[in-house]
Amino acid sequence: MIISQQKPFADILTALDKSSSVFLVGCAKCATVCKSGGEEEVWQMQEALIAAGKSVTGSIIIDEACHMLRVSRDLRSRQQLVDDADALLVMACGAGIQSVSAATPKKTVAALDSMFLGNIRRFGQFEQKCSLCGECILTETAGICPVTACPKGLLNGPCGGMDAGHCEVDSEAECAWAEIFARMLESGTSSNLTATVPPKNYARIPKPGKLLLPK
Ligand code: SF4
Ligand code: SF4
Repeated sequence: MIISQQKPFADILTALDKSSSVFLVGCAKCATVCKSGGEEEVWQMQEALIAAGKSVTGSIIIDEACHMLRVSRDLRSRQQLVDDADALLVMACGAGIQSVSAATPKKTVAALDSMFLGNIRRFGQFEQKCSLCGECILTETAGICPVTACPKGLLNGPCGGMDAGHCEVDSEAECAWAEIFARMLESGTSSNLTATVPPKNYARIPKPGKLLLPK
């Protein structure tokens, strides 16, 4: 899921400076789980905006704000409230914010910062495990991603700074490559210990990314 955080309220107010009326958009998926743009946060934002002297024309929680057709359809269902607003404040990840900006010519203001693709450890605890490099090497690295877990993203580690299994960048953390080696030994894939992972082909992740499934 996409991990997001709310921007400071003062920054949101600055972005809304010339907009006296606002329509709020939240997302029922990732932003709800992150508690950055679900129903509760949208309601709190509405209260805060009103207290700051703004008028709120309405709000909507879209089931998946990254779904462009759904966003278009849901905003059309609140057309008058959208039309009455000077700006739409979107409490969703960057993909969701752009679904909204594509669906309306109105000023669109981002209320959240998108952080990373995250795993959920438990409620309210998110960890980055994958950096979406487009060329997965987890088979070669015993199921642990060095692109993400190693602060230097080393494909062949450890680096010279590793100290008794701890990372030189964060001495509280285990070295990702020490963990990879331990996992290789555990899983009987220690023959990978001597293999060299080739440089990544970053041409595999052109931007903007696009995938069209066959019909
Ligand atoms: S190698 Fe790491 S960053 Fe790349 S796709 Fe696999 S898990 Fe994601
Ligand atoms: S100590 Fe290990 S995890 Fe830390 S930067 Fe070096 S190789 Fe990466």
